[in-house]
Amino acid sequence: MNEFLPFALPDIGEDEINEVVDSLRSGWLTTGPKTRRFEQDFAAFIGGGVEALAVNSATAGLHLALEAVGIGTGDEVITTPHTFTATAEVVRYLGAHPVFVDIDQNTFNIDPLKIEKAITPRTKAIIPVHFAGLACDMDPIMAIAKKHGLKIVEDAAHALPTTYNRKLIGTFDTDATVYSFYVTKTIATGEGGMVVLKNKEIAERCRVMRLHGINRDVFNRYSSTKPSWHYEVVAPGFKYNMTDVAASLGIHQLKKAGAFQKRRSDMAACYDKAFADLPVILPPKSPKEDLHAWHLYVLRLGDEVAISRDRFIELMAEKGIGCSVHFIPLHLQPYWRDTYNLKPQDFPNALAVYERAVSLPLYTKMTEKDQERVVEAVRWVLNF
Ligand SMILES: *Cc1c(COP(=O)(O)O)cnc(C)c1O
Repeated sequence: MNEFLPFALPDIGEDEINEVVDSLRSGWLTTGPKTRRFEQDFAAFIGGGVEALAVNSATAGLHLALEAVGIGTGDEVITTPHTFTATAEVVRYLGAHPVFVDIDQNTFNIDPLKIEKAITPRTKAIIPVHFAGLACDMDPIMAIAKKHGLKIVEDAAHALPTTYNRKLIGTFDTDATVYSFYVTKTIATGEGGMVVLKNKEIAERCRVMRLHGINRDVFNRYSSTKPSWHYEVVAPGFKYNMTDVAASLGIHQLKKAGAFQKRRSDMAACYDKAFADLPVILPPKSPKEDLHAWHLYVLRLGDEVAISRDRFIELMAEKGIGCSVHFIPLHLQPYWRDTYNLKPQDFPNALAVYERAVSLPLYTKMTEKDQERVVEAVRWVLNF
């Protein structure tokens, strides 16, 4: 029998390894010149004059961004239940409340028509999640935010690189966009994230809060002309800085982001073709002119398929193929369900997608043979 094909693997090359070794030899392990370089490269990659602030996770970045735009106790922040718990938990860190609205069943992204209905006098912000790497419909979301004076913090954990109306996510007129470099994401630093934004004041608040509320970061502390021991604490900040070891990976992963996207997109097209005759619903696509980051390839089992999604995943595992589910919607999770008294049917689209969705392996280290194995296993499980 073939070796087990995992659901996801990072794609780390010699350049990344050499850069990490260089950092280790330099003695500079925490935030320093490599982090600075990664931030500059990232800002240049996104373009549009943005600033990029490296952090140790997207969760940290989302928390920082929400804090910096002024979210606080009792505020409401609109997002979808079809996401990872990090998107909503950061709202609770600040004593605010997530207000969930359902997804559009065709895109798996937040339904702009439902956002407006969820707005109350306490609503302060929207967190759109670009699910799987497909852009949310940003025009109506930005129009609603403008009309009601709401902030927008984009959860772009899946969306490097993704475009909307031919422009990269990260360049839109929102308050902040947050990327993840968690090991399974489109570029990986093990743990890591980036906050991208244009507003200088929000950027400065994020910069200070990311390192203990100190008004200069470690890099400045050791390279500025002021005495090296001097610093000022201006707020009770967090410990969210990125290490130079992680940034060493990021610098080289970022250079490959375009090629990775192309490969993922080709692989997704290959799956689409191979499954065209099966009783399944293929993943939603971006318009032709736009980039889909293809962080995930989410297949939905058709009504005609007699077996459950869970059984499908068990049978795939018997064939040596790892699958996953994105996501167990938050309204089914005990904490969110019980805290906000949510019922399964409150979000029928998120529920329907969840019950029949399976994420297949899709990563750049997979060979053509690996992908053929996945296709054969899917056909076998579905008796085709
Ligand atoms: C992975 C993920 C996060 C959190 O990213 P970390 O870097 O692991 O903190 C946030 N939102 C979504 C949608 C994710 O998939």
